[in-house]
Amino acid sequence: MVTTQQHSVLGVAAPAKSCTDKKCPFHGGLTVKPEQLQGKVVKKDTNRSATVEWHKSSYVPKYERYEIRRYTLRVHNPMCLDAQLGDEVVAVKTRPLSKTKDHVIIQVTTPASALTKREIEQEVAGKVKKKQAKQVTEGEQ
Ligand SMILES: [Zn+2]
Repeated sequence: MVTTQQHSVLGVAAPAKSCTDKKCPFHGGLTVKPEQLQGKVVKKDTNRSATVEWHKSSYVPKYERYEIRRYTLRVHNPMCLDAQLGDEVVAVKTRPLSKTKDHVIIQVTTPASALTKREIEQEVAGKVKKKQAKQVTEGEQ
C-alpha cells in the first residue's frame, strides 16, 4: 500500500492522529475536489461511515415565504478524525468511495461535547425563564 502524507487538504491542517485508512485524504492519498459543505453528524456507523445533515432556507415565490429544507448526505468518516454524533463537520467531494458515498469528512469544526455544553446551558436558561414566568402567573392569581 502506498501512503502519501498530506500536511493539509484545502487549507485544513492534518489531524494529530495518524491512520491507515486508504480512503483518508490526509494519510491515504485520496484526492479531494474543492467543493465543501458543512453539517452535523446525525448517524455514525462502525464501518467508517456517517450521515451529515444540514438545513437551508429557500424562497417559495408561490407562497411568498421561506421554507427550511433538510438535506442529508452519506459521508466517509476517516479513522484519524472519527467524528462523533452531534459533531459539526466539514465534508468535501471526492471520487466515488462506495455505492452511496462520494464525500469525506476533513475537519471537525465544533465537537459534540462543546455543543452539548452550550445546549445544556441554553436549556437551563430556558427552564429558569419558564420557572420565573410560572411564578409570575402564580403570583398574579
Ligand atoms: Zn487519516
